[in-house]
Amino acid sequence: MKKKEFAVIGLGRFGGSVCRTLSEQGMEVLAIDVDEEKVNEYASIASQAVVADSTDENVLKSLGIRNFDHVIVAIGDNIQASILTTLILKELGVEKITVKATNDYHEKVLKKIGADHIVHPERDMGERIANNMISNNVLDYLELSDRHSIVEIVANERLHGHSLLELDIRAKYGINIVAIKRNNDIIVSPLASEVIYAGDILIVIGADQDIDRFESEVV
Ligand code: ADP
Repeated sequence: MKKKEFAVIGLGRFGGSVCRTLSEQGMEVLAIDVDEEKVNEYASIASQAVVADSTDENVLKSLGIRNFDHVIVAIGDNIQASILTTLILKELGVEKITVKATNDYHEKVLKKIGADHIVHPERDMGERIANNMISNNVLDYLELSDRHSIVEIVANERLHGHSLLELDIRAKYGINIVAIKRNNDIIVSPLASEVIYAGDILIVIGADQDIDRFESEVV
């Protein structure tokens, strides 16, 4: 299979981190920024790093941006440049575009012009950290939509020694346990007969309100 090719536009804290991680994972990454210093910083990390203004359509064309599998627009503060870049990428027919949004208005416009995926790193991380702080049992949290999440919950004594069948969690709470982490093992798609032990980490998927109910009543 052909290696996926990524382009990251804007090498601030977020874009830089995306670029570094993709490169560490062995992906082909083209790093782009208007700031030469930033480009130099990433020259030895990304497959290729170029100084370019992404609001210039001809520049993006000459970089062959259309041929990349996934382009990440990580221009933060300059909302106008972020929107214009996204619009040009869309018009050039880039297959997948992920854009970092700075606020809700920015996000709204990005949605309208057809960004495939919009991320809000500060807001999302804030929510995640706050959720982790509120609950002692919730270890990690991944938002799937406004109302659905995957959550890691530590099983307590109340669940200890009971099988999934006995607990009947899906029927009672409308949530699914998709995996159980126990010591160094992971049981994926556990059977109904699987018994839970205190200290197991349950990986739960469902609607936030159902997960909250499960957590407050049982864990
Ligand atoms: P973060 O909050 O993730 O650190 P910043 O807003 O600080 O984001 O960084 C965004 C980066 O995007 C900067 O390095 C900036 O030089 C770059 N940038 C801004 N406008 C453009 C543009 N038109 N073309 C390419 N890069 C740009």
